[in-house]
Amino acid sequence: MAYPHLFEPLDLGFITLPNRVLMGSMHIGLEEEKGGFERLAAFYAARAKGGVGLIVTGGIAPNRAGWVSPFSARMKSSVVSKHKKITDAVHAEGGRICMQILHTGRYAYHPLAVAPTARKAPISPFKPKKLSQNGIKSTIKDFVQAAALAQKAGYDGVEVMGSEGYLINEFVAPKINDRTDDWGGSPENRFRFPIEIVRQTREKVGEKFIIIYRLSMLDLVENGSTWEEVVLLAKAIEKAGATIINTGIGWHESRVPTIATLVPQGGFSWVTARMKGEVNIPLITTNRINTPEVAEKILREGQADMVSMARPFLADPNFCRKAMDNKADEINTCIACNQACLDHIFQRKAATCLVNPKAANETILVSRPTALAQKIAVIGAGMAGLAFATTAAERGHDVHLFEKADAIGGQFRMAAKVPGKADFKETIRYFQRQIELLDVKLYLNTSADVEQLADFDQVVVATGVKPRALSIEGINHPKVLTYPEVFHGAAVGKSVAIIGAGGIGFDMAAFLSESAEAHSFEHFAKTWGIDLDYATRGAFVKPDPTPSPRDIFLLQRSKGKMGKKLGKTTGWIHRRLLKFKGVNMISNVSYHKIDDAGLHLTVKGEKKLLGVDNIVICAGQVSENELFASLKSTFGDRVHLIGGAKLAGELDAQRAIREGVVLGLGI
Ligand code: NAP
Ligand code: SF4
Repeated sequence: MAYPHLFEPLDLGFITLPNRVLMGSMHIGLEEEKGGFERLAAFYAARAKGGVGLIVTGGIAPNRAGWVSPFSARMKSSVVSKHKKITDAVHAEGGRICMQILHTGRYAYHPLAVAPTARKAPISPFKPKKLSQNGIKSTIKDFVQAAALAQKAGYDGVEVMGSEGYLINEFVAPKINDRTDDWGGSPENRFRFPIEIVRQTREKVGEKFIIIYRLSMLDLVENGSTWEEVVLLAKAIEKAGATIINTGIGWHESRVPTIATLVPQGGFSWVTARMKGEVNIPLITTNRINTPEVAEKILREGQADMVSMARPFLADPNFCRKAMDNKADEINTCIACNQACLDHIFQRKAATCLVNPKAANETILVSRPTALAQKIAVIGAGMAGLAFATTAAERGHDVHLFEKADAIGGQFRMAAKVPGKADFKETIRYFQRQIELLDVKLYLNTSADVEQLADFDQVVVATGVKPRALSIEGINHPKVLTYPEVFHGAAVGKSVAIIGAGGIGFDMAAFLSESAEAHSFEHFAKTWGIDLDYATRGAFVKPDPTPSPRDIFLLQRSKGKMGKKLGKTTGWIHRRLLKFKGVNMISNVSYHKIDDAGLHLTVKGEKKLLGVDNIVICAGQVSENELFASLKSTFGDRVHLIGGAKLAGELDAQRAIREGVVLGLGI
């Protein structure tokens, strides 16, 4: 077997899991929608069918105070039958599923929020009410009742969410808990809340029900738990009756990235490894594990007993099945972009996946064999063209894909060169393999013309975008480079001005400010302030980044903060990283000319010269769609336009891939 450790069964005494893979908890945002439970049932069932060992649902509140936001999912008698749809669907596919019980504490996005202490979180506008002693006891009862109802709904167990800075974590760490009663002060008092939850839950549900406790092993905030306290709590949780301990990394308010693309793969498993031997129940490790190779290595090295992956199961429901069948090269890999999952949740939209728009849309975006196989030409092998070509070919169409460059991937080829975005090349690998498997005829270095396309039934134009041409005086000076030229290897001097501070301007600044050091977890930890010796509370120390080897000026004409349009959950990381690197971010500029002396501009009304070696243009794109216009007159309705070629203004890969898939399913 290709991954013997990953596919070794795990005996929990009363139940044996078929492998060591947990699909970790993710809020999908369908729980509150009309018909959402049917969609969730289909979503989880697809992952069970795909062979995952155990699933944990998104967080379900035990009471109203614990809601994520007003009226969000809560466990109560009236919803048991809805949850049963999920458990029945998963069991019908031979899977197992636990319900996560999540009380958001002071992170609750509503005025009913409660916490051990009435202290507002920096990431929430609501000041929580301090829980009274009776309030604490009734909250424990609500956790127990939620677990009992989960059992009634057919779940195989529950996960008690004790990490990420939510209510339980707020009791455990002195950062928030400054109570002087039985629930604060000494570690024993601070731990009483989670211990009672687990102890009373076990009493209620009996022995043959999984209780996973998600333990914050690394708070990554000042005044978090010490390592000794984490171990003490783990032992107490085991004694209280937990079946498995899962690893939690970082509070949501922590200023250390924990799941973004720039976190080295599997980097945080060292902390679970440190816990090994301290308890006798299985330990799950987590964060940035997105390939079977990384998961297998962690298990082989004995760092944990199971691995948790969440987003990788949005990207590919059949992750386990493919790995088991030695077809890991067919896995659609999660690239940790957060764009269609976490960012959607923050925008109050249902989560899906940038590389797999079918995720959480299993009942909507359905692939059925075509009744009329057609010969279809696709022009452009960027994300939109690839998504269309493979979707249409899977349905039985005869698809021919023309690409003028010498490789597929379009804008993703450049993205993969940005520090921390190397995973983007996995999406290209995935499509390359799909092209082979689905017999898509690929023509590289080929610019298709109207005559060549004459005998096709349908033509799909996915020619993408080209950089916006600027009309600044001196724009043709040898100092000036476009972003594709730089990403494809053009030499860049020691001082650089970047015109344009959108997603690509930020990526360019990161690319040019990268130091030669290896991308090790040690380097990442030093940059962001993780104390690998765990000598400090919360393992959080002052960041110690390596400065940029170049002087960089990142410029935009508009006023205000830079990077406003970057993703909600990743924008702060991009901005902080550039600050770490000493990149000069200047808004409210107007450009005058470029000459041997450099870039002449006005900043807030004052004329300046940036005496830089190079000026890199990252000023957005325009559609590359001239071909479409000429094809339209020949093909009429049989020509289609998708992706950046259709609309460059808001070009993003999420839209491009989705448009390709939707057209591919409908053609
Ligand atoms: P963009 O986000 O539209 O940014 C273009 C930048 O160029 C803006 O800062 C704009 O600022 C400036 N600009 C526009 N017209 C200009 C002109 N005529 N002269 C000078 N400056 C001009 O485009 P992008 O950076 O190329 O990114 C394209 C898309 O890729 C994004 O929408 C995003 O979805 C995606 N992307 C995202 C990320 C990420 O989230 N990390 C990374 C890469 C790409 P001013 O008008 O204020 O000067
Ligand atoms: Fe992963 Fe991005 Fe898909 Fe989220 S949207 S699951 S981060 S690839």
